[in-house]
Amino acid sequence: MRFSTSIMRNIEDRVPAGIVTDHAGTMPDLVPDRVRSAWWSAHFPIPGWVAWWPALVLLLVILGCAGRPAPSDRSARPAPSEAAPTTGAFKPGQLPMIRIGLLVNRDSASLTGTGRFRVVDRASGEVIGTSSSGQIWRMQAKGAWIDVSAPGGSAQGLYTGPIQVNPLAREGRLKAADREYRGSMEVVSNKNGKLTVVNILDVENYLRGVVPPEIGKLKEDRIEALKAQAVAARTYTVANLGRRKALGFDLYGTVADQVYHGYSAEWPLADRAISETRGMIATYDGKPIAAQYSSTCAGETESIEDAWGGNPIPYLRSVRDRDRGSDDFCNHSPVYTWRVEWNKNTLENILATRLPGLDPRKRGEFSLRDISIKSRSPTGRVQQLEIKSNHGTTTLRSGQIRSALRRPVRGQPMLRSTKFDLKFRQNSVVAEGGGYGHGIGMCQMGAIGMAGQGYKYDRILKHYYRGIDLDRVYN
Ligand SMILES: [Zn+2]
Repeated sequence: MRFSTSIMRNIEDRVPAGIVTDHAGTMPDLVPDRVRSAWWSAHFPIPGWVAWWPALVLLLVILGCAGRPAPSDRSARPAPSEAAPTTGAFKPGQLPMIRIGLLVNRDSASLTGTGRFRVVDRASGEVIGTSSSGQIWRMQAKGAWIDVSAPGGSAQGLYTGPIQVNPLAREGRLKAADREYRGSMEVVSNKNGKLTVVNILDVENYLRGVVPPEIGKLKEDRIEALKAQAVAARTYTVANLGRRKALGFDLYGTVADQVYHGYSAEWPLADRAISETRGMIATYDGKPIAAQYSSTCAGETESIEDAWGGNPIPYLRSVRDRDRGSDDFCNHSPVYTWRVEWNKNTLENILATRLPGLDPRKRGEFSLRDISIKSRSPTGRVQQLEIKSNHGTTTLRSGQIRSALRRPVRGQPMLRSTKFDLKFRQNSVVAEGGGYGHGIGMCQMGAIGMAGQGYKYDRILKHYYRGIDLDRVYN
């Protein structure tokens, strides 16, 4: 998992600027459990039996306001994450080729092209057919075989594959799942008897389909941000070639690695940013860095070990997202601050399906009793969130928090970040937070802000990744 989040997705509700206060509305740790439940009940009144609590409730609210940061449980951190994986697949000085898993584990796949193209059985070298623009070839999984049908539906036969599809025209593109791609395609039958469609092309052309969906189709005055994104994405690519080798490709074309929308996503200014930084990657101690990035840090990036555990990485330390005397570089982000409100029933329904470890048969009887922030990282991001229900107590840690506390809108997207406070209303819970994504490494909205203030891409990268060098690994 790369955990990166594209700034282009899910920024659906622009929120007014607000103040994010620390620990407001959370309960101090010294309050016994029995009392915490009562405090919750007072905020979600249950008729009849809370009437005699007001004095105690008042006392507890006062205690709550005087809350202190809880100690973080360092011994309970997740296992160390893998830092800057490098593979033997990349040879310096040579323009690397990359294999992107476009469609994975499918029963069938359809492919076509914008010009003439050829379909070949790679095992035997047999040319299965040649087609002109727009003609659709269909491949279907049949156990360990690929059932290939030519345009018009005429069966061509069963092949073990891989089936290669190569454009014949110079600028010809191939089309899969409604998007056009440069390079060639390979359809592979995998161990599960399903099909995987892999796009094969060189890294520089691949980046043309990555930079715009990852940071947006920015204008000329923000080109330095496009260049910084190009170097970060190229670094991630070079460092992770071979990462998904067992699946028959290098990287997914999704947030699991980097969002890649091929030719369909290309943007002339992004192309220029890529070609002006051609072959350039960020290195530390001579190795490509683990180039993490996310949408909006809301003022301060996160140290990797505070979010994911493991050892600190010198260039993935928390930095203030500003220069001396300046405002936060990402303060123009529509999710610099945000607010989410759940009514009690909605939150119970979300947690009933999203909370890890619940018995699936009992999810329907979910009743929330308390929710409280137990610890935060030095930048104020929530590290442990405790949820008490009729099923007992569950403690969520960093990464789990965002996926359990889904937003109450269509599709239930993840909570934008772990930088939030909770407030309790009469019959609802409010999260007031800031930023979008894990906050580690480059802040994309901050990079856009820096570009707007005249910073060059190398300064932008060195602001977020301290102590790095920029090296050209091929020309
Ligand atoms: Zn930022």
